[in-house]
Amino acid sequence: MGVWVISEYRETLQRVSMELIGKARELSDELNEELTAVVLGWKISDCADFLIQHGADHVIFIEHELLQHYTAGGYTKVLSKLINERKPSIVLIGATHIGRDLAPRLAARLKTGLTADCTHLEIDPNTKNLLMTRPAFSGNLMATIECPVHRPQMATVRPGVFPMPCANPSRKGTVESIEPDLSDEDLLVIVEKVMKIEKSSIDISEAKIVVSGGRGVGSKKGFDILHELAEALGGTVAGSRGAVEAGWIEKEKQVGQTGKIIKPKLYIACGISGAIQHIAGMHESEYIIAINKDPEAPIMSIADLAVVGDLHKIVPQLTKLIREH
Ligand code: FAD
Repeated sequence: MGVWVISEYRETLQRVSMELIGKARELSDELNEELTAVVLGWKISDCADFLIQHGADHVIFIEHELLQHYTAGGYTKVLSKLINERKPSIVLIGATHIGRDLAPRLAARLKTGLTADCTHLEIDPNTKNLLMTRPAFSGNLMATIECPVHRPQMATVRPGVFPMPCANPSRKGTVESIEPDLSDEDLLVIVEKVMKIEKSSIDISEAKIVVSGGRGVGSKKGFDILHELAEALGGTVAGSRGAVEAGWIEKEKQVGQTGKIIKPKLYIACGISGAIQHIAGMHESEYIIAINKDPEAPIMSIADLAVVGDLHKIVPQLTKLIREH
């Protein structure tokens, strides 16, 4: 019984965990079951109120010095033990780097299935099973997967798929703290030091304005005019997988099914054809401008404003106009 969200804490709670709490609240209400947020780490219990105010009924902190940094061995051991003991019916995890490593190990240990990278979750009104929908066959169809026999039903969900729930300061809940039995041998690896990569610019999932380039940009140097436009607009630059694979922009800036799902106020697609896998990552942008030589490119049909022409001429003119006004 119960819906669990394994909430990721890295210096602070990760946004995807809160998005999952919001969705899990709906699922728990439909099942009339309790929603539990489980947080692993060391000295993390300051976030209990935050989790409860956003929808959790119960918060379990699993705290141990050896859980301060994520390790597959340590996290899998303590979580599989607790899930085996308490037997929740649903376990949801964010499809972050950590979630993608942890979820399959956990599912294997629990001898259950896992639906990775879900974009939609709902309860079947007849069977009360969780229906987990995810893109399949390179995004050409959506598959809805059910786990009718094994428990828990497990899914990972990518950041940005569900909205952040609103806080209700008057919500009440319960908090529990567990100190697991863990030793160095359980970890498989020892994390000695965590070094942060300096972020060169704004995270594309947070940016309000995104200027995105595809193969049509033609070269790494060609991206200079996109950076200038983004700077003039106070936005950031992203790219299609085509541009990432060509080495013109970093992988962390890729928009789409295997990149990031973003919902900026303005998305300017320059020299991007609009393959289904790309559109999966940006179609919820509030306003889409597409600049493409080909009026028949698929991106043009989803754009609010389709500009037919050579981006190398249009983009610098646009930047000039914006700077002048
Ligand atoms: P192209 O498709 O080559 O399009 C280039 C466009 O630029 C064309 O429309 C052309 O008309 C236009 N153009 C050329 N020159 C100019 C010019 N001078 N001015 C204006 N326009 C010009 N793709 C993603 O983007 N994100 C993903 O996450 C992703 N995941 C994938 C996952 C899988 C499993 C698979 C199979 C594919 C995935 N892809 C993804 C790849 C996707 O299918 C496309 O191949 C890719 O998006 C194409 O990139 P593009 O639009 O930059 O290039």
